Amino acid sequence: MDMDTYDLMIVGAGPAGMTAALYAQRMGLNVVVFGDIAGGSTYMIEQLNNFPGFMNGIPGTQFGLQTFQQAQQEGAFFTMTRLESISYASGRFTGADVDGKSIVTPSVIAATGRTPKMLAVPKATLKGVHFCSICDGPLYRNKHAHLVVIGSDNAAGQHAIALSRVADKVLLVCRSEQLLMDDVYQKQIASKQNIDVLSGVEVLAYEGLDMIEGIMVRSLEGAEKRLTVDGVFLAVGWQPNTGMLDLAAETTTDGYLKTDDKLMTSFPGLFAAGDVRNTDMCQVLTACADGARAAKHVADFLSSSR
Ligand SMILES: Cc1cc2nc3c(=O)[nH]c(=O)nc-3n(C[C@H](O)[C@H](O)[C@H](O)COP(=O)(O)OP(=O)(O)OC[C@H]3O[C@@H](n4cnc5c(N)ncnc54)[C@H](O)[C@@H]3O)c2cc1C
Repeated sequence: MDMDTYDLMIVGAGPAGMTAALYAQRMGLNVVVFGDIAGGSTYMIEQLNNFPGFMNGIPGTQFGLQTFQQAQQEGAFFTMTRLESISYASGRFTGADVDGKSIVTPSVIAATGRTPKMLAVPKATLKGVHFCSICDGPLYRNKHAHLVVIGSDNAAGQHAIALSRVADKVLLVCRSEQLLMDDVYQKQIASKQNIDVLSGVEVLAYEGLDMIEGIMVRSLEGAEKRLTVDGVFLAVGWQPNTGMLDLAAETTTDGYLKTDDKLMTSFPGLFAAGDVRNTDMCQVLTACADGARAAKHVADFLSSSR
């Protein structure tokens, strides 16, 4: 087994992890980053319009790639593999990846983000059920598709707007009676001829053999209806990616890592940044800010413990 030693192990190569890597390297730390996708979830953002400094927005993929290159340029080492486990013994964290590569560090930043939830319905994993409209929406181009978006928040709004460009019809289905997304999305949805909203309904089941062909919904009054669909795009919540952490760090009831005002978890030396922690805002900007702050506090932690 290969064995390398670094000052800081960062898990996750999204905005939080890459910004932490950039800052930590510039503070003189030797950083290794485990991450499967350079840019993390930013590849799902068609156009990042709310990051200061980009007047006309920037494609999420481009933002992710540039941030990755910037951290690499500062000297951070990216394994481009997923970390399988982290354990702790004698003042050191040991991280192991799928290829048997093992890294030992005195500090860790968990920047692993969160994963979209599936619906707990029969046939939940049929083909044609998607999470990312930017990635999978183009599959339906020129197919005269009828697509359903399930959810009512900003992510649902973004899905519906993106899919309205490739589908004949988009139906936004949500349990709440009102859409819970920003006005800017509500206005765009209202202005699109091919987006309809069906609110106050619960999805009961998906239908189809291998591919999704329909969904069953029930209104608050109890009326059930079958909708014919070619694809479903989900925006129904998230769960934090903490499965690889074999450490007794405190979490919220939903499993998000709790941090103090220095972004350290209850496990000394383990810090958390971005969407995986109990943050009140899951955005690129806030993830980057977390990454920068976590790097600073890791540097202070290492100085005080040496
Ligand atoms: C469709 C969509 C649209 C969005 N639009 C916007 C927007 O317009 N503006 C905005 O500011 N934000 C937007 N967001 C939110 C934004 O993408 C996130 O808040 C941000 O990416 C969080 O950064 P992060 O670094 O905390 O996590 P992530 O970007 O999720 O990165 C975490 C990475 O860690 C990886 N990982 C997990 N476990 C492991 C492991 N064991 N080993 C290695 N790697 C691991 C994950 O696979 C992931 O790649 C959007 C999100 C989505 C899904």
